[in-house]
Amino acid sequence: MERKQFGLGDVVQMKKPHPCGTNAWKVIRMGMDVRIKCTGCDHSVMIGRLEFERKLKKILIRAEEEPQA
Ligand SMILES: [Zn+2]
Repeated sequence: MERKQFGLGDVVQMKKPHPCGTNAWKVIRMGMDVRIKCTGCDHSVMIGRLEFERKLKKILIRAEEEPQA
């Protein structure tokens, strides 16, 4: 199983779009919980990291290409 790599500032697509119709979320905070902000309406949500990884569909825009050591 491939582990999804994501980082602060990445724009990601989730399995379910936000009710506003946008499906592009920016990662604005990383930690035990991840805070993501809808790029369509600026609504932000905080979700557990494991839940985030389960709901993540793909990464649309990577903020950084450098892998973290
Ligand atoms: Zn939205």
